[in-house]
Amino acid sequence: MLRVVLVEPEGEYNVGFVARLCRNFDVDELYIVNPKCDLTTAARFAAHGLQTLNSACIVKDLKEALQGVDLKMATSSDADNPGDILRTSVPPWTAAELSKGKRTAIVFGRESVGLTRKEIAATDFLVHIPASKDYPVLNLSHAVSIILYELRKDTSAISSVDSTTLSLLDRYIRDLYIHVKSKSVDERAYLVAKRVIFRGVKTEAEARTLLRLMRKLYLKLNGVWQ
Ligand code: SAH
Repeated sequence: MLRVVLVEPEGEYNVGFVARLCRNFDVDELYIVNPKCDLTTAARFAAHGLQTLNSACIVKDLKEALQGVDLKMATSSDADNPGDILRTSVPPWTAAELSKGKRTAIVFGRESVGLTRKEIAATDFLVHIPASKDYPVLNLSHAVSIILYELRKDTSAISSVDSTTLSLLDRYIRDLYIHVKSKSVDERAYLVAKRVIFRGVKTEAEARTLLRLMRKLYLKLNGVWQ
């Protein structure tokens, strides 16, 4: 299942073009968070994606738009600045690998300022289309088209890890980064560990084996020796 999420889009033409692209690439759901433009005008640009636009879910915040998916991916033209873990990116073809067999949401930002750091942090991965170092900022709908092409081009490939196994893995990884005293999570370390592990796990058997290790670690750290 593939969901496209537009956060506060400002241009009617972009929203229309994206609705059309959703139809072109068999996207299952279009979510629009707090649109900043007129959706009736946007319809003029949707062509045969009009039905997709008319049935889009209009929601108030990103949290709502990310409900019910296994994998959340943000996108940005601004990525891979040294030392900035949050903006360490994967390219679209890796995003395609990661999303195989999972209910996936791919989130696109405002034409003016993109996505906030908080919005990026609410997702699992950041996807960046490698473009000119001088000018890597694509038009919103152009960025959507490249990413949808990559996500859809190889539909026959392996389906991988079960979503329940994946969310259990996620929970254990996060648990391992909870400070004993303050009870707060080391978000940076958690994000790195999750990304590395999710990127590497290819099959259900691998995921389950890793899950057993995580569980063992968790139990040992919590004083329950096995
Ligand atoms: N100045 C803004 C530009 C936003 S462009 C910024 O700093 O991000 C609008 C949206 O198009 C972005 O939020 C992102 O979703 C998408 N986009 C544009 N160029 C992209 C690129 N090279 N890789 C991935 N997404 C891109």
